[in-house]
Amino acid sequence: MMGAQGQIIMEIIDSHTHWGPSVSTGTEVTTQELLKQADQSGVGRIVTFPFPSMALADEKINERLLGEANRTKRFIPYYYIPETMKPIPEGKGFYGGKWHWMRGIQDSSSNYEALKDPKLEEFIETSEKIDLPLVFEEELSFTETFVRKTKSLKIIIPHLGMLGGNPMDFLRSFKSSENIYFDTALASPDTVMRFIKEVGHERILFGSDIPFGTMKWELEKVLSLPIGDDKKELILSKNLRRLIGLEQIV
Ligand SMILES: [Zn+2]
Repeated sequence: MMGAQGQIIMEIIDSHTHWGPSVSTGTEVTTQELLKQADQSGVGRIVTFPFPSMALADEKINERLLGEANRTKRFIPYYYIPETMKPIPEGKGFYGGKWHWMRGIQDSSSNYEALKDPKLEEFIETSEKIDLPLVFEEELSFTETFVRKTKSLKIIIPHLGMLGGNPMDFLRSFKSSENIYFDTALASPDTVMRFIKEVGHERILFGSDIPFGTMKWELEKVLSLPIGDDKKELILSKNLRRLIGLEQIV
């Protein structure tokens, strides 16, 4: 959609941010900080989830995030999946989940024993029924094994697979899996374009990964891609809204 001055008018949703205190870094991303970055960037709503170290220390952070989302109205809260593999609780107001190096070493090595846990089958079965997406971060071969166990569960691979391995390997593995999505956080424009060319525009989501990226910079990156505004709109909000069943508000 174009405005009177030719500027793009569309709702923009950031699909990947972290909120709250982080035990491991001793820092905190406040609600005010997220809203400030959103206002500076023209972002309407913000998907956010607790920091891993905080969620592992105290699972109640999930509840606190829900409370914050109810107050601000602009947050789209995701549930941090605890090490017990408890699926996203239904009817509480979570729109998705964050699966993060389950029982492994965060951002560095997967724990393959988790794939042998009998609870995993139950987790997948329940999650398929709940039908909300999971931002899923693990090493490539862990991710491959997990993905082979489900055809319908919607999985979002953050930063095009960076940290879990080489993005090009993730691309090769999941190119033809229609239930696998990717977010653009921290990736180079060239890599994002490569993904768009190979998987299409419908499975790519804009994300900033605050505090590891900034919303303004990450958004500028997507807005500068050599693609049409209709395609940008898919990446900036439509794909995510479709995934989580969210109404358009612009
Ligand atoms: Zn992140």
